[in-house]
Amino acid sequence: MKETRKGMLLVISGPSGAGKGTLVERLLNKDPSFCFSVSVTTREKRKNEIEDVHYHFISEAEYDKLLEQDAFLEHASVHGHRYGTLKSEVYERMERGQNVLLDIDPQGARTVMEKEPSCVSVFILPPSYADLKVRLHTRNTEKPEEIQRRLNNARGEIAQMNRYRYLIVNDDLDLAFDQLSAIVRAEKQNSVRYFPEIGE
Ligand code: ADP
Ligand code: 5GP
Repeated sequence: MKETRKGMLLVISGPSGAGKGTLVERLLNKDPSFCFSVSVTTREKRKNEIEDVHYHFISEAEYDKLLEQDAFLEHASVHGHRYGTLKSEVYERMERGQNVLLDIDPQGARTVMEKEPSCVSVFILPPSYADLKVRLHTRNTEKPEEIQRRLNNARGEIAQMNRYRYLIVNDDLDLAFDQLSAIVRAEKQNSVRYFPEIGE
């Protein structure tokens, strides 16, 4: 039996602190068919972050240049900083049959869902707003006013969750990861991207 596959574009979105990064890291460690689309951002690098692994950290001028060159699949201002997905991180890999994972905000996810309707969109929810607050404080990567800004944005983002194909409440991490794995397993067999050729 011969089979060919087109790459899956998996879009993970949700409010800051919901656990997107945690789930994304697990999936990348477990499933080598996925690669991560490294976004560009104008925000400052955090201590634990690695250049060109977590983000391409660039200046405002460099960002403007990329905009001019039409280099973005999508781009958005998020919590006061600019972020964008480069086309070059996505399309060539998908053509080669590789699955590509995007961790992007709901504005960017909306653009990708419009441009690439066969993408697999997954929205990650925290079990409660109280948990979201605790997680952002525990992560301790932003200043209190930045955390407040992210919490203020969360309600508007969550109000749009019905735009996504799948929803996961990340309360128990193992359960949430099982649910994400089940979505991925099923979507690999979706006839939009899976082309088996059976023998005579
Ligand atoms: P996001 O990428 O959505 O901003 P993170 O993956 O950075 O969120 O998670 C925010 C914080 O919450 C991190 O400190 C992470 O370890 C923690 N976290 C993630 N999932 C859970 C969970 N199911 N239960 C408790 N804490 C979690
Ligand atoms: P953080 O600054 O915490 O890494 O990310 C803040 C938000 O920006 C998160 O919701 C994250 O998903 C989103 N984000 C990261 N990269 C991109 C991107 O390329 N495009 C868009 N639209 N959002 C992004």
